[in-house]
Amino acid sequence: MKLSTFFLNTLKEEPRDAEVISHKLMLRAGMIKKLASGIYSYLPYGLLALRRVETIIREEMNAAGAQELLLPAVQPAEIWKESGRWAVYGKELLRFFDRKGAEFAIGPTHEEVITDIVRDHVHSYKDMPLNLYQIQTKFRDEIRPRFGIMRAREFIMKDAYSFDADDESAEKSYKAMFSAYERIFSRCGLRFKAVEADSGPIGGSFSHEFMVLAETGEDSILSCSRCTYAANQEKAEVAKPDVYSWEDALDGSPREVHTPHIRTVQEVCEFLDIQPQNLIKTLVYTTEKGPVAVLVRGDHDVNETKLCRVLGCENLELADEVFIQEHTGAPRGFAGPLGLKMPMVADTALLKNGPFVAGANREDYHITDVWLTRDARIQSVEDIRAAIEGDSCPRCPTGKLQVIRGIEVGHVFKLGTKYSSSMNALFLGEDGSLNPIIMGCYGIGVGRTVAAAIEQYHDEHGIIFPPAVAPFQVLVLPISLGDTKVMETAGALYDAFKDRGIDPLMDDRDVRPGVKFKDADLIGVPIRITVGAKDLAGGYVEIKNRGQGTIEKVAPDRAVEYCIEQLQHKGMMFDRTD
Ligand code: ATP
Ligand code: MG
Repeated sequence: MKLSTFFLNTLKEEPRDAEVISHKLMLRAGMIKKLASGIYSYLPYGLLALRRVETIIREEMNAAGAQELLLPAVQPAEIWKESGRWAVYGKELLRFFDRKGAEFAIGPTHEEVITDIVRDHVHSYKDMPLNLYQIQTKFRDEIRPRFGIMRAREFIMKDAYSFDADDESAEKSYKAMFSAYERIFSRCGLRFKAVEADSGPIGGSFSHEFMVLAETGEDSILSCSRCTYAANQEKAEVAKPDVYSWEDALDGSPREVHTPHIRTVQEVCEFLDIQPQNLIKTLVYTTEKGPVAVLVRGDHDVNETKLCRVLGCENLELADEVFIQEHTGAPRGFAGPLGLKMPMVADTALLKNGPFVAGANREDYHITDVWLTRDARIQSVEDIRAAIEGDSCPRCPTGKLQVIRGIEVGHVFKLGTKYSSSMNALFLGEDGSLNPIIMGCYGIGVGRTVAAAIEQYHDEHGIIFPPAVAPFQVLVLPISLGDTKVMETAGALYDAFKDRGIDPLMDDRDVRPGVKFKDADLIGVPIRITVGAKDLAGGYVEIKNRGQGTIEKVAPDRAVEYCIEQLQHKGMMFDRTD
């Protein structure tokens, strides 16, 4: 590709409304252009990177036995009503009416559509295992679209769906996708980690997220210092502490103390001269199953995802002032577990390190010397708090959890029979019984993967593409267009790369060398060959490795071989199997 005719428009200035580096660089390198909030066009340079990732995904999905199809973006409301998600998916689902008044949505995910296909065509255990995938546009009306294509409203996803007759086979399908994902992200050259995750609105029993490790990632990951346990913040468990003994609890008895206008954790701690870990925070929530009081230590936060799971509810909201006054007998800030007349669930950390201070359910009063299991009627003690750095690992005896940050690029789910049961996708088993198909689903954000690669690989001058994701792996940069020898050499190099199956980019624009070098760094081509008259007279061209920043002098007739060796040696070659 010749840059003089390639549709590439780089920007010198820093785009103002971009918060993260990948978004800034994708705009500056002319990869994407914003049309509306969370809605982007892929320009040719961006599309090439996207296609690289798609190719890797396709190859690995096909190798894992998945078959590609293409499903429509527009989906009728009926199938969402059948699965039960029409009522619960919320505002992320973009809904609309057609001219006849029929209701539709633009697909944020495709479990319903695929289940509708499979229920009509898969009737016997002999038709499975089956895995179908597509690479297609999704729409989610995200509450806060940001970071460019990283959290867009319209975005491209690879989504695969597996169908199995029994749990063992379903487990195999899950593992096959898990390994395929490991290969995909490794081939993309990314540093990543698979972590346990909550299933969210997709549903199902178990899932893993694939996280690209980056400081700027939106997701917190809790990772054990000793074993392989890693989970995202929503899912991360905390090891259960030892329970205090009754002898401990016999010390002292609850005492009411006057705490005028003292409500927050900080205020109570200062007033009573205690530490936040000696305080019980009592939060009143309303759910579709009724109100519940949730108790955590003063220095801990409730993890609402874990809480929802423990309570078996779908909707959870902190109660308002009026509700709190009515149900606790005191304004916000004075609720406590003693004598409270509503179901209570306490976090496991409260089983240890008593006695505690808690609200007295009376305005301007708190209670000291509280031992939870002795003094309150707790319904259950559960792991409901957000795990934090330094917490004990739930899987091994000595490990401590560390917090690292990541970008979720892929998600694999065990769905079980959630969709096949509700949508009647049944098959005839070997024993003649009729059962719902066991499903799994597996997503990769294709655009997000490209953005994550840039987030991981860049410097102050621009993108440093991992070669497998790079739109072009080699840039030939003739310095003076007027010099015949320079242009002949550059042309010969360009053709030689093409002969070797590598599509190079040639900067044949009539602009100052400084502009060419700046753009080369900005757009992040892994290897740059500079062809200059002086160098040629000396018998060499300059080969710059963008990632390492090294420059080598190499004879022109050795240059192509040298670049290919570099790309191969570094595992950088765009790894094609065609
Ligand atoms: P997130 O928690 O980041 O919103 P999700 O759990 O909702 O993601 P999934 O439903 O698992 O996402 O979708 C599969 C993949 O699609 C994700 O792993 C991610 O790479 C990508 N993806 C999801 N939402 C977006 C988005 N708004 N923009 C770009 N890619 C997205
Ligand atoms: Mg989401």
